[in-house]
Amino acid sequence: MLVDPTMNRLDGRLATFKEWLVENEPGCVCTARKMAESGFFRCGGDEEPDLTRCFVCHKEMEGWEAEDNPMEARYHTAKCPLAKLGKPASQLTVEDMLKLINFQQTERVRALSSDMIEEFKTDAAEVRKQLEALAKKPTRKRRAR
Ligand SMILES: [Zn+2]
Repeated sequence: MLVDPTMNRLDGRLATFKEWLVENEPGCVCTARKMAESGFFRCGGDEEPDLTRCFVCHKEMEGWEAEDNPMEARYHTAKCPLAKLGKPASQLTVEDMLKLINFQQTERVRALSSDMIEEFKTDAAEVRKQLEALAKKPTRKRRAR
């Protein structure tokens, strides 16, 4: 999981919503500004134009509709501290941001560690299999003369 520090900034996230088609619908609540204020940025490229990710909890969402309010906590993970704060990004204090980045980095390390542990388990299983195969190999017995 890579963390792009540009997405920690409101203007960085807002820039990813340049062609936010959802916004063209009449009475749209789900505006580009509100998406960025709620912590989301677009991450799906041309193939998935409405795929978004929260810069704090990394939850990905797609299928946004004009009436969706991205400020609602349900669009984030249950642990997301940004959703718990319940305020738009433009109203975050420096202390709030430090807490969010702390969470973001802790989750990143947790995910990396988890990947490394899985990789180690796979390698260990392979080595075990090789050792067991060696142990089963018949050994040449010396003949007594
Ligand atoms: Zn979140």
